Amino acid sequence: MPVSTRGRSRSDEDPEDTPRKRQKVESDDEGALQVLAEPTGIVERCEELWFEEGNVVVAARDLAFKVHTGILGRHSDIFKGFFIPVSLAQLPKGRDGCHILRVDDAGSALKELFNVIYDGGNSKWFNSSKPPIQYAEFRSVVAVAVKYEVKEVLTEARSRLSRLLPTENMGDWDANLRPDGEKTSIRMEQLDRADLPRMVRVLGMQRELAIALYACCCTRDLSFIADGVRYGDETVRLSDADMLRFVRGRTALALESSRIAKTFLQFGRGSLHEPAGCKECRPAFQYLGIAAVVSGFFCTPSALGPYGPWLTRMAAQPHSKLCKACDTAVQGVIDQRREQAWQKLGTIFDVPNWPPGQPKNNSDIAAPAAPGALAASQTA
Ligand SMILES: [Zn+2]
Repeated sequence: MPVSTRGRSRSDEDPEDTPRKRQKVESDDEGALQVLAEPTGIVERCEELWFEEGNVVVAARDLAFKVHTGILGRHSDIFKGFFIPVSLAQLPKGRDGCHILRVDDAGSALKELFNVIYDGGNSKWFNSSKPPIQYAEFRSVVAVAVKYEVKEVLTEARSRLSRLLPTENMGDWDANLRPDGEKTSIRMEQLDRADLPRMVRVLGMQRELAIALYACCCTRDLSFIADGVRYGDETVRLSDADMLRFVRGRTALALESSRIAKTFLQFGRGSLHEPAGCKECRPAFQYLGIAAVVSGFFCTPSALGPYGPWLTRMAAQPHSKLCKACDTAVQGVIDQRREQAWQKLGTIFDVPNWPPGQPKNNSDIAAPAAPGALAASQTA
């Protein structure tokens, strides 16, 4: 199989970034590795991953690692292919006689991946007592894990992301993307949401796309529409198709939000047949209806957001405290409407296999990203 280690993950390929500047491993007709000559000396060593007894040097763009062919090959069929004798024989050698494999990856990404491979159960990826993984790190490790087909890391990445973007039921959804608080599986900044649609595709998680796009729609900081989001030398933007889903989605979700917010006005008018608020609470419902307008609930796209915390805060104010029965009744109706919005996410974002709650099609989640998927899903 012809292989190339050129970074599929880079979306902003620089035309000036010529092979002259960066040596790379390329495919040839026979599928064997061919390393361009003129080794320019090893870039900076990664002391942490420089094993004197290692038997190969993997040189990334800006960092080199002296590692073990057997260990990398054990976890990655791609590395295994690089290290078969006929391929190794074609690699240049350093002064210590070690073969040098040059790859076009950021050193930091490869360092994280090698740390996971070498540390195994003690790495933060596989040790639940360690702090959550920052999203920027998560995505860079996923990029190289996809490229080198490191299955255990990809399985863990899917597991972590699925906890953040649950599809089985709305009750598991956390609007702040911190479902387990400090123990959250991936720590995200607001703008990281803009990368989620690309990420779920890279990981072959088709169903999670609905939640990923929903999370994008609810991002408070919309600067990513114009500027994209920067990760090192890479800029990520929504693809044209996802931008269309995003724009349409915000409109559709705002409509769903208005249906939910309207609940207060309907209770206030007594126009909800069942269940309706008591007469004593009608002024409070009218007050809440106006407060919902002022708060912008009628035009925000956050149709899945819980109203409980807001009602609790409002209850502290004069005129807006509901009796227990009315509070329970209105929250029940709101939850029904949120659930209806949840069921519609597939239609809103044009995502098949939604609504969820059906047996998962394993091919949804198990399929690795097709070669080139990373590059194809990015437009920068
Ligand atoms: Zn009441």
